[in-house]
Amino acid sequence: MSKIILTGDRPTGRLHLGHYVGSLKRRVELQNSGEYEKILIMIADAQALTDNFDNPEKIRQNIIEVALDYLSVGLDPNVSTLFIQSQIPELTEFTFYYMNLVSVARLHRNPTVKAEIQLRNFESNIPAGFFCYPISQAADITAFKATTVPVGEDQLPMIEQTREIVRKFNSIYSETLIEPEALLPENSVCMRLPGTDGKAKMSKSLGNCIYLADTPEEIRQKIMSMFTDPLHIQVSDPGHIEGNTVFTYLDAFCQDKHFEQFLPEYNNLEELKEHYTRGGLGDVKIKKFLNHIIQSELEPIRAKRKEYEKDISAVYDILKAGSENARTIAAQTLDEVKRAMKINYFDDTTFIQFHTQKYKM
Ligand code: ATP
Ligand code: MG
Repeated sequence: MSKIILTGDRPTGRLHLGHYVGSLKRRVELQNSGEYEKILIMIADAQALTDNFDNPEKIRQNIIEVALDYLSVGLDPNVSTLFIQSQIPELTEFTFYYMNLVSVARLHRNPTVKAEIQLRNFESNIPAGFFCYPISQAADITAFKATTVPVGEDQLPMIEQTREIVRKFNSIYSETLIEPEALLPENSVCMRLPGTDGKAKMSKSLGNCIYLADTPEEIRQKIMSMFTDPLHIQVSDPGHIEGNTVFTYLDAFCQDKHFEQFLPEYNNLEELKEHYTRGGLGDVKIKKFLNHIIQSELEPIRAKRKEYEKDISAVYDILKAGSENARTIAAQTLDEVKRAMKINYFDDTTFIQFHTQKYKM
């Protein structure tokens, strides 16, 4: 079986460090591994509209922003198909048929959707479209017969839901769809990078992000005001690593080479943690170190973005060509799905033959 990747992001804002470590960095590595027959990267505007239906301008504004972020981290449009979800109308058809295969109770049990409903104060008034977005995600994944979905941890319930839909579809109709697998970051802190405020997840909706396109000064300010250990008041106080956002980010980004470059008094992160825990190491010092690391990681990304920003019409053309390409693939799978469901009346000669025979008598 050929290996196919499908993944994407909601154009609700620019992409941030959580996306980068949780998914984007991995996508680029997978793209460059040459092991995948197809790589499809989707800007999920239709999904973003399920909770931003009253603000379509926000979604529209962020399509090009997300595309620029994609290109700046190294997604290569000659290898990966970059496309816009709403331009593939077939996806909504899949969604409609898959809705028959999922119960309302099952949707209610999805822990990610539960948390998101709470966050958006949708409890008493959940838009049906938002409630059903895991089904539309199953449509996105299966339409391209994706085998592999590189995502952060919050997406695991969606992949599980997709797998259930695939099994049900294949058992009721016929073996047509492929069961995908989630590919989580290898480093466990990258599965769900916390926000700069220490909240559980860096998320556009929570406003606690360091964006890939932030200026060096914005990044510095965000890092210098980051949440650390509230009990570590004097430099001499013993500090805590657990729940200390600066150390979580160091776990995500720091490599031994960074000590040589930026903090040669220590050999590795273990030594730094040990000193912090013992006392005598101030927050400013560890924040400055983290700032050096993040700046060095984001500098080349920002430079590449600047290049693409000079030619937005080329970015537009990339998305247009990618959407056309994606649509061809999705339409092919939709034909197979309709054939399996026996609703392909005008391509199915047995349909007319049967009825002609029936009324001949
Ligand atoms: P929104 O608040 O609009 O939902 P978001 O910041 O959660 O935005 P998404 O577009 O929903 O971003 O997520 C895109 C991808 O990035 C998903 O694979 C998700 O798992 C991953 N991701 C998002 N935030 C993080 C994070 N903080 N840590 C790790 N991965 C993340
Ligand atoms: Mg999200």
